[in-house]
Amino acid sequence: MSFNDIIGQETAVKLLRNSLKHGRISHAYLFVGPNGVGKKLAAINLAKALNCEESAEISCDRCVCCKKIDASIHPDVKYIYPTGPSLSITIDNIRELRTQISFKTYEGKKKAYIIAEAENMTIQAANCLLKTLEEPPENSVLILTAADSHSLLQTIVSRCQVVPFNRIELHRIESFLVKHHGVDKSLAHFIANLSQGSLGEALKLKDDAQIPLVKAKLMDILSRLKNEDVITLVGEFNKEVFNNDNAERGRDVAEYRNKLHMSLDMLTTCLRDIAILKQAGEQVPLINLDIEGELKQLENKFSLSQIDGFLNTVTDMKMHIKNNVSPQLILERLFLDMQGNADA
Ligand SMILES: [Zn+2]
Repeated sequence: MSFNDIIGQETAVKLLRNSLKHGRISHAYLFVGPNGVGKKLAAINLAKALNCEESAEISCDRCVCCKKIDASIHPDVKYIYPTGPSLSITIDNIRELRTQISFKTYEGKKKAYIIAEAENMTIQAANCLLKTLEEPPENSVLILTAADSHSLLQTIVSRCQVVPFNRIELHRIESFLVKHHGVDKSLAHFIANLSQGSLGEALKLKDDAQIPLVKAKLMDILSRLKNEDVITLVGEFNKEVFNNDNAERGRDVAEYRNKLHMSLDMLTTCLRDIAILKQAGEQVPLINLDIEGELKQLENKFSLSQIDGFLNTVTDMKMHIKNNVSPQLILERLFLDMQGNADA
């Protein structure tokens, strides 16, 4: 994998390649952008290009250095990421980095330390790292990645060259899935939309066998929303999607939150498609082409203002997930509010 394999981040890659070409390498970088858009890949490629035996601007992917970095066994390139039950980067991690970075390079040209998801550094770890950033050892480069720079100490941000990474255009994710993973075109279109511009998320979703099941259940619930009691709908959803009779009991709540969030994202795409069928007919492409027939059956069940109300409810419920409201309560509220809206 070289810089050429990073899709949708032309500006960031151009900036890095220019720095490499002109030998203007910062002692510290901060790659900022959503998860799954190529920050870690770019960090590894920067480490490779800095140490590559054959090229100074882009990694060759053939020399011993490039191969060792790809296999995570190069002694001069280290990768630090959040670990432990609290998923954090601790002061011990950074102390070890400070010791190692002070040594000369073993076999490469530059020591490169990649600190992934740097927003998970404890405050003690961040303050310890600050000392290294204030007096950077020669021949070393620190590459931090983070979802956003506001969650880091501003004293850290100000000592790094910030390189922004963007969400990837959906059509590029779609063609990547079709071309490199043989995903069916309509499924690739759906996954790209659900991924919200994160290739990492799209690659996870493509292997999620539950997606068709969740989608079918959502369509079933929409078709019965007006005539079924909420307790039954919640019960069925728990059983069929969460494999449990309650969205919390005895299981990992974090896992439920993720699944519920994914389900709400899927519900949003279905509602958006129904609104499109009502307004524009066939002219705007549907996200859920695979269930076009089922969507058409729902087209006349709800008015546009009801669908708008549903979408607002879904947005509210996503906020509740963020604020750690119990998934069971969220599900109950979701169907209750939607039903209220459908009866209005
Ligand atoms: Zn190389």
